Amino acid sequence: MSDCLFCKIVANEIPAEIVYETGRTLAFRDVNPQAPTHVLVIPKEHHADAAALAAADDGLADEVLKSAHEVAVLDGVSGSGYRIVFNTGAGAGQTVFHVHAHVLGGRDLGWPPG
Ligand code: 5GP
Ligand code: ZN
Repeated sequence: MSDCLFCKIVANEIPAEIVYETGRTLAFRDVNPQAPTHVLVIPKEHHADAAALAAADDGLADEVLKSAHEVAVLDGVSGSGYRIVFNTGAGAGQTVFHVHAHVLGGRDLGWPPG
């Protein structure tokens, strides 16, 4: 999608600090981090949200989840605990409508989230 911010990151049209990549996923640091580790993991293919990703039903959601866990290992937060979040829909705080998993860690994470 030509007007999608994260598609532009995939296309290298907007810079990002990439931390991990697979054939179908890309992980990069959030520009406004909410924790010492705050990485966004996306499928390179455009899907608007987690529901659309799940409906794709071709293993892509699985690859996004595995990449998210790999990011936690690479960033050294897998032992201390981390959180994987998909804000889904504007009412849940989704602002970029290219599905992304937030991987958060490196500090105490409150529960329930605000
Ligand atoms: P959402 O609110 O949709 O769940 O999360 C969108 C996230 O994208 C936010 O945490 C925001 O800081 C991040 N973000 C917005 N624009 C950019 C950008 O241009 N580059 C990067 N790396 N992150 C961005
Ligand atoms: Zn997109």
